[in-house]
Amino acid sequence: MTIGHAHACPEVLGLLVTSKCNITCRHCCNDSQPANSESASFERISQLIDEAAEIPSIREIGISGGEPFLYLKLLKEIISYARTCGYTSSVTTNGFWGGSSGAGRQLDELREAGLGAINISTSPFHQEFLSLSRILGAAKTALSVGLKVTVNIVSTSTTAVDDVRHAFNDLGDRVRFVVMPCLPAGRALTRVEQQEFPAEFTWPLGNCREHFKKLAVDLSGDVYPCCSPGGFTEPLRMGSGHRSTLGEIVKASDQNKLLAVLESVGPGFFLPFLRQQDIDDEIPERFSDQCHLCHFMLSSPKYAEMAAEWADLLVSDLAALPESEWPADNSRLAGLKEFGAQSVLPI
Ligand code: SF4
Ligand code: SF4
Repeated sequence: MTIGHAHACPEVLGLLVTSKCNITCRHCCNDSQPANSESASFERISQLIDEAAEIPSIREIGISGGEPFLYLKLLKEIISYARTCGYTSSVTTNGFWGGSSGAGRQLDELREAGLGAINISTSPFHQEFLSLSRILGAAKTALSVGLKVTVNIVSTSTTAVDDVRHAFNDLGDRVRFVVMPCLPAGRALTRVEQQEFPAEFTWPLGNCREHFKKLAVDLSGDVYPCCSPGGFTEPLRMGSGHRSTLGEIVKASDQNKLLAVLESVGPGFFLPFLRQQDIDDEIPERFSDQCHLCHFMLSSPKYAEMAAEWADLLVSDLAALPESEWPADNSRLAGLKEFGAQSVLPI
């Protein structure tokens, strides 16, 4: 019996190409800022794109940072190279270029080079630097040259998501929205007040299956199974792209039991076990979402070790059962039943 497999067949290769950004959002998960100068070389990125061929499920190259539009020449080279290798590309940006006179021409050149979609991020923290009207301008420009546009709304406890959507009403249904709650990771740990996090859930549910469709490679070459701001923790690190190829790293992860449990039932599976450990005062009462719980749990070596043990026991229990008896009513499987996991397990 096997559980989990999406982390072994990602559809998007997400590449962080710089830690430099033109702004300094308080919540930034990777501490990007204007003073940073680190960016990936084209040689390194093209090597990763070459290695993506080892993973036949990959169809798209997702470029993010930092702010990739600060490196326009590199951005165009990456997009062009990806196209010669058969991939469409998308870029995640803060949209600072919205409304600037040359933006349409530059975007059109990127589209001709192979760019298919733009993801524009906004939040109250972005808006301390970039107004919503600037983001609207960026969305309009991108649509005008034929790109798909997604607006990523990072929500806080006070964000009126509908008001943000309302600002894009003129664009009708041509813009897709993705809402993701702000969570305490990276710079947000020190620069965002506790009450600003949405913290809606006492027991965040949801598995990582969709998130695992986007493999991430950070600037140091480390490979992670998702691009979530909460996902860049040591236990989730699948390997180093400097020591192994992407294909080797992904193949090896097929046996990773922690990833299998996260993919199948999500980090919520571990919360009841964590709470049984008499460490309630250390565990937040509420979470922004499942990635907040995951980041909290896996940032702590102590809790990460527990999670690894529980994942190991769970997978061993499942593997030992004849399918006709699965899931059995014992404590380690009870969590799975709670999550209605019968529908997703076994695969
Ligand atoms: S959240 Fe995005 S726009 Fe803001 S500082 Fe970080 S990389 Fe830049
Ligand atoms: S819960 Fe963890 S592994 Fe799953 S998508 Fe969120 S950060 Fe990634």
